[in-house]
Amino acid sequence: MAKVIAIANQKGGVGKTTTAVNVAASMAATKRKVLLIDLDPQGNATMGSGVDKYDVDATSYELLIEDKPVNEVIVPETTGKYDLIAANGDVTAAEIKLMELFAREVRLRNALKPVLEHYDFIFIDCPPSLNQLTVNALAAADSVLVPMQCEYYALEGLTALMDTIQKLASVVNPNLKIEGVLRTMYDPRNRLANDVSEQLKRHFGEQVYRTVIPRNVRLAEAPSFGAPAMYYDKSSTGAKAYLALAGEILRRRDKTLQTPAKAS
Ligand code: ADP
Ligand code: MG
Repeated sequence: MAKVIAIANQKGGVGKTTTAVNVAASMAATKRKVLLIDLDPQGNATMGSGVDKYDVDATSYELLIEDKPVNEVIVPETTGKYDLIAANGDVTAAEIKLMELFAREVRLRNALKPVLEHYDFIFIDCPPSLNQLTVNALAAADSVLVPMQCEYYALEGLTALMDTIQKLASVVNPNLKIEGVLRTMYDPRNRLANDVSEQLKRHFGEQVYRTVIPRNVRLAEAPSFGAPAMYYDKSSTGAKAYLALAGEILRRRDKTLQTPAKAS
């Protein structure tokens, strides 16, 4: 049975898509069956998986709005050795059309049911806002992985995000867990980043992944080659960090370290 992990943060540019693509590839490299769902109309996870967003037969739009069976929207075996549900500009319309539909929060959850048996992990790359698409991701997920940059206002934003996740969880998905908080684009020479990182650990304790994703130019370059970093430069610190993260996610799953997202 697949574990479904939504990668969410309402802030743009914090490393959601980079995390989605590289953790999906790293997990697939451990011989797990992986599906990555791109829910961001920008389609960056799609392009970063080597799939041309302008030349796909179907996207998450058809899955969410047109009731197209999930098997018919999956692009098999991308460059990262995982399967993909693509996104492009069409998905912008999904956000609006969802508003008109019955049971709009659980469209994705219901649509995925037929393939849950087929995968070990399903990762969902969310858009940079808490809109209906993100709500659908959170309703379909077992847990949320929150990437964040260790910047000055990061903690404030994170507390607000956790609040929203808790409120949403209590309405649409009471079993939702916090998978973990991931420090991204980390520069250990930056004192502020170290301070924020320490505060983060005090505040969120075990929820913070031990794995830290360093700032690494290979991670930024890889998408233009249409591949996750491990297939672009496997010895890069970025590729190695995401392999370590996949290992940590597997260990956490076994230990059930996660804490409920629902407000008590
Ligand atoms: P989001 O999906 O949250 O908007 P992205 O994953 O697209 O964030 O990252 C934003 C930008 O930062 C992209 O240009 C990406 O290539 C770059 N980036 C992300 N993570 C790293 C990293 N660890 N090191 C260097 N660049 C990174
Ligand atoms: Mg993104």
